[in-house]
Amino acid sequence: MASYDFVCNECGNQYEVYVQGFLKDKDKKCPKCGSTAVRQKFSSFLRNFGSCSPSGGSGFG
Ligand SMILES: [Zn+2]
Repeated sequence: MASYDFVCNECGNQYEVYVQGFLKDKDKKCPKCGSTAVRQKFSSFLRNFGSCSPSGGSGFG
């Protein structure tokens, strides 16, 4: 199961959708106002690049 973050363009509602398999258009519908005019937010884990160091952490050099 995967989760996706969405923001509704109509009412500004931010919500998370859990889907099994592929994300379908009907899964994107805003639960608050029912609009399909939503946009997907990118997951925050994409911003974690660079925080993992290859060494075991024996000082910062
Ligand atoms: Zn909405």
